Amino acid sequence: MEIINYIETCNPVYGCSIGCPYCYAARLNTRFKITPDFKVPTIMPQALKKIHSRSPKTFFMTSMSDLSGWPEDWREEVFNEMRKYPRNSYLFLTKRPDFITIDIRDIPGAWIGVTVTGKQDLWRILKMKQNLKAQNYCICFEPLHNSVGKVNLSGIGYIVIGAETGNRVGKIIPKKEWITEISESAKGIPVWMKDSLLGIVGEESFIQELPKSMKHA
Ligand code: SF4
Repeated sequence: MEIINYIETCNPVYGCSIGCPYCYAARLNTRFKITPDFKVPTIMPQALKKIHSRSPKTFFMTSMSDLSGWPEDWREEVFNEMRKYPRNSYLFLTKRPDFITIDIRDIPGAWIGVTVTGKQDLWRILKMKQNLKAQNYCICFEPLHNSVGKVNLSGIGYIVIGAETGNRVGKIIPKKEWITEISESAKGIPVWMKDSLLGIVGEESFIQELPKSMKHA
């Protein structure tokens, strides 16, 4: 299977106070010391130069933070810069859609998503639609920690599924049926399974699809 990754990262904010025990970004920060205290988010506006690219691209804007930890003035600064480059796609994720309200429906390429690690997080999908207004919504089932069962995916345009990375004691490896119940209920919604799932679901069930609007490369 041809595996193409169309998505680049652009991180105008580093750091997050949520403190997930499996946080890849915190581990990366410990290694590279990008910011002195990962629990204190820091804005690095110079990172936004990346979105000034001549050809349209898709940027993951929160691979080192959670959108809910960005104060309003940081959010506005970043959204205003995005408004100048509307041909790009921009992907944001949060675990706390109950924490902030935003409305970026005027930015056609903006995608807002919530992380759902299991059944206990499903409330985030509805809260996202209520509090975070955007033209495009996605769900990131990563790291998948239990079966989510039947999920209402109406209005969702993109789904990512992934397993926990790293060697944490107590790390949870998702079961094949947890993954396939999501992909089977997606019905026409593009699903991107992270590479690490190939060995769990097998080639016959492995999917890597992107929404057309994100395929800029
Ligand atoms: S929300 Fe994301 S960035 Fe924040 S601690 Fe959890 S995994 Fe790390």
